[in-house]
Amino acid sequence: MSEAFIRFVRELYGEPRAGIPLHAPVMGTREKARVGEAIDSSFVSSVGAFVTEFERQVAAFVGSRYAVATVNGTAGLHAALVVAGVQAGDMVLTQSLTFIATCNAIHYCGADPVFIDVDEDTLGLSPEALASWLEEHAEQREDGAYEPASGRRIRACVPMHTLGHPVRIEKIAEICAAWGIELVEDAAEALGSTRGGRHCGTFGRLGVFSFNGNKIITTGGGGMIVTDDEDLARRAKHLTTTAKKPHPWAFEHDEIGFNYRLPNLNAAFGVAQMERLPELMASKREVAAAYARWCKAQGMAFVHEPAGTRSNYWLNALRLADEAERDAFLAATNAAGVMTRPLWTPMHRLPMYAQARRGPLPVTERLAATVVNIPSSARMAGG
Ligand SMILES: *Cc1c(COP(=O)(O)O)cnc(C)c1O
Repeated sequence: MSEAFIRFVRELYGEPRAGIPLHAPVMGTREKARVGEAIDSSFVSSVGAFVTEFERQVAAFVGSRYAVATVNGTAGLHAALVVAGVQAGDMVLTQSLTFIATCNAIHYCGADPVFIDVDEDTLGLSPEALASWLEEHAEQREDGAYEPASGRRIRACVPMHTLGHPVRIEKIAEICAAWGIELVEDAAEALGSTRGGRHCGTFGRLGVFSFNGNKIITTGGGGMIVTDDEDLARRAKHLTTTAKKPHPWAFEHDEIGFNYRLPNLNAAFGVAQMERLPELMASKREVAAAYARWCKAQGMAFVHEPAGTRSNYWLNALRLADEAERDAFLAATNAAGVMTRPLWTPMHRLPMYAQARRGPLPVTERLAATVVNIPSSARMAGG
């Protein structure tokens, strides 16, 4: 089975011998031209026109009113949580099946994650598991949700759109609204993904994207907070740019902010990448469709976009029968230079988060043991 897969992937990418990466960025003369313009403008760092242009492009693309660029997605998540009101001692509901950044951002606020199970088909936060944890552990008070046992506020919920596949976000939004819980979407992997025609990251009060080198588009490193709320946008911009009060020359800061600014050089790169995004998305859907056809013929389980959604298919995935079969597949493919990877070790199994509160996590455990990511780059030349 691994042998047939290796042959298929080499054919798909037309690379019989060279190593095939999990996800390579597509870049070239357009990015060089934009970065060159930034250099010529002399604004390469924390001030410059490309930052504003990149923010405008992303806001327009996802259909949000405001966008605030950040130095990476993790910083964007941290700032979004602060702006959403997450404070030291709060509890934040999220999934254990995620990249470490989601949890770390919660911890940076002095809050603690609570792990809720995921759905089998979306690989993301399960609204049913969320509702049942809340019914069992939470109490609704005038100003929001609390855990009566500890008196702690359950402040926010951070679902993640795993591998670009949209979670049941409307259902999650309904539950959060009913309980008075702030919804912040970790849409780091989901630029280009929609549910019911609406873009991931725009269902919550705030959403966050990442432009790390392995994401669907990259700025080298970068992130973006999106929101429809003008006050939240203004506050996110202020906090991520050292909380400096506007003044022609004076350096005055009105709170402890962060230097989370995206440099103009990186934003210039991002502007060129945004111009490529529609083509990248089309190419990635073709790759996903090719895998889906092949898997069907081979009787293998391909991870499809959930019903009612359009996924960006950031990373394609297969489900194997069990952990042993998964490990054999990982060993054979990587030995042949076809890069494949397991999902993340679930957060509740890492030493830093082993003590965190959690609901039952049977689906998380099952997916973590059986899903593998397979080569997913767009098939396009840089140019
Ligand atoms: C990539 C990613 C982030 C942000 O990562 P950065 O490398 O800091 O941009 C956050 N959450 C998830 C789920 C991610 O995949």
